[in-house]
Amino acid sequence: MALVFYHENNPGDHYEFTHLRLNDVYDFMDGKVSYLHMNFKATNAATGSEVTFFAELALEGDVFDKHGGYCTTTCSIVDDDCVGGQKEEWYNKYGSVANGYDEHSCYVCAKKIKHPTGKSCKGGHWIKDYWVDDSSVE
Ligand SMILES: [Zn+2]
Repeated sequence: MALVFYHENNPGDHYEFTHLRLNDVYDFMDGKVSYLHMNFKATNAATGSEVTFFAELALEGDVFDKHGGYCTTTCSIVDDDCVGGQKEEWYNKYGSVANGYDEHSCYVCAKKIKHPTGKSCKGGHWIKDYWVDDSSVE
């Protein structure tokens, strides 16, 4: 579903979804909104090359309807040079900005989750421990 969002914004490109690892998905609450951050793989239909996407999905409102109502807020291609999540670093950065909000980094995900530059995703910018469970499920 995130790819639909990408295709709407990039009409010239077409990607086929190939692979999502469950432990590359982070599920968290920020304010009253429930977010998912994830990396997944997709293949370019024209060139056959596989790329990594980052997607953020947001669920506003009814948290009991957990599998309906998610909408895609961001979906874009990332590569190894993109910033990873700063989950492991939050206590080092804590207090580094006056209001505790860092629009350039995500403090929910582990480093292995690559993010597009700051502002394009909405959740995870508060410098605190989100208590996201980093257990590996695959
Ligand atoms: Zn994140």
